[in-house]
Amino acid sequence: MDPEVSIVIPAYNEEEALPHLLERLAEILPQIPPAEVLIVDDGSTDGTPEILKDSVKRYPWLRVLILRRNFGQSAALTCGLDHARGKILVTLDADLQNDPADIPKLLDKLKEGYDLVSGWRKNRQDPFFTRKLPSRVANALISRITGVRLHDYGCTLKAYRREALQGVTIYGELHRFIPVLADLRGARIAEVPVRHHPRRFGKSKYGLSRTYRVLLDLLLMFFFQRFATRPLHFFGLPGGLLFGTGFLIELYLSFLKIFGHQQIGHRPLLLLGVLLILTGINLVCTGLLAELIMRAYYEGSGRRTYALREILP
Ligand code: UDP
Ligand code: MG
Repeated sequence: MDPEVSIVIPAYNEEEALPHLLERLAEILPQIPPAEVLIVDDGSTDGTPEILKDSVKRYPWLRVLILRRNFGQSAALTCGLDHARGKILVTLDADLQNDPADIPKLLDKLKEGYDLVSGWRKNRQDPFFTRKLPSRVANALISRITGVRLHDYGCTLKAYRREALQGVTIYGELHRFIPVLADLRGARIAEVPVRHHPRRFGKSKYGLSRTYRVLLDLLLMFFFQRFATRPLHFFGLPGGLLFGTGFLIELYLSFLKIFGHQQIGHRPLLLLGVLLILTGINLVCTGLLAELIMRAYYEGSGRRTYALREILP
């Protein structure tokens, strides 16, 4: 019989945390409806896969998915969610920064009639300047831009009704936008405060550069939502502006030449400026176009963002 709840956990080089995580899960599982735990090994280079292979023998509720290489947290999560059998899905991190003891709380909230319940790390235990501060800025921006009011989009600890994730595809840093993507499909969303612990084992795979990627993903998602079917609306404006600017410059120079009788062939800076702007815009547009093609490809072809090596047991 299928379990009611599937707990999905991506793990990348978490050999130290895993035994503790499994013990904590073993304590919590009796408190919730019948559940399975899917741990996705995201191409770890340490002892993670071995520990997982051993643990499957010990814990009957454990299923292990081993990816062929490191595909990133979103792909690993997708893999776990694809293979989950429960009607209710829970995601959390493997490093015990999320507390498995909060799972019952999320499930209770879900029962109140929500489709998605997101954890809010009210007392987040991460470095201030490289993580908490940029996250606060990013969270405020995401909240404003998307209109989905959460305090903490980055918290992996979330619970969903399966339907809420239908048609939601995630890439890159997009796993944090699941609530936004689900909201676009009419999901009822709630947020509950959860505990957060400092990392006790191993180290974070992310630093400041991640916030940049998160913001980029946000912009790209926004772009995709709005312009997927009409990229010209997007490219038209800057294209037109550039053309207009170039035209004005030429007009100005022609004016100098014709009426001022001046030489205009000696303005390298002007040329350089125009060249740089054009090149920059060109690159951005090419990047966006590539992004569009990539996403259309993954969503249209049903091709997976990950590749599986093994499923245990
Ligand atoms: N993770 C993963 N693939 C990656 C990077 C991270 O599966 O390429 C997992 C990692 O093992 C952890 C979770 O994603 O369970 C969150 O990663 P981390 O703790 O490094 O992020 P932070 O808590 O610092 O935001
Ligand atoms: Mg962590």
